[in-house]
Amino acid sequence: MIELLLVGFFGACIGSFSSMLLYRLPEMRTNKSLTLSSPRSYCPHCQSSLNLWMLLPIFSFLIQKGKCLYCSQRINSSYLINELVHISIILLIALNVGINCIGFIYYLIFTIFYILFFLDLKHLFLPIYLNVSLILIGLLINVVFNIFTSYQEALLGLVAGFGSLWFINALFKIIKSKDGIGGGDFILLGGLGSIFGISSLGPIILLGSSFSILIYTLSDRTKREEIPLGSGLILGAIFFYLIQNIFI
Ligand SMILES: [Zn+2]
Repeated sequence: MIELLLVGFFGACIGSFSSMLLYRLPEMRTNKSLTLSSPRSYCPHCQSSLNLWMLLPIFSFLIQKGKCLYCSQRINSSYLINELVHISIILLIALNVGINCIGFIYYLIFTIFYILFFLDLKHLFLPIYLNVSLILIGLLINVVFNIFTSYQEALLGLVAGFGSLWFINALFKIIKSKDGIGGGDFILLGGLGSIFGISSLGPIILLGSSFSILIYTLSDRTKREEIPLGSGLILGAIFFYLIQNIFI
């Protein structure tokens, strides 16, 4: 029980860290004075720096009833939601996979998926360092632990995942003289291929493109001109994994 409480607390910290990344990574592209560590986290309304315990929205929502301690403005509930999702997922992994190295890898992959999903959804931004981390994690876990597939499948998945979207985009570019698919999407599909293997790519692309179109259809068209393919591919990969492991 103590172990699960500690795991939940760790999930809450990473949930809070994810909120910070989702806010700062897109901003850092234009605001060069902003880094991951500076300035310290602050209230977006009154700019007051937050104390250590205020960084965990679950505590600040309980104690301050969802309002800033300094200016009493309401805190955006997405911070609390990020934290609750992370706590739920890390506990699900701890109970089903175990509190061990493999469980940690599952949670690490989930966290990168989570950040990439929302960055692409809101900003069509798939940072190369997160995409490349997925490729490295995929190759490492399948070469060393054979967690999701064999290392041959993982290597072929990387090449085919990257190559297939690159090829489609190259054809599009010849016909339309502009890019049809963002470069981040090629690397992301390469990463998904290296985690789940080449045979997963067909279902992931099929599910992923359906989810992307669904997101586009449900979005406000006045604000969205491009389809967030990366977000769809991530949902496709998660559904592919769940279908394969839970329902079959
Ligand atoms: Zn404030």
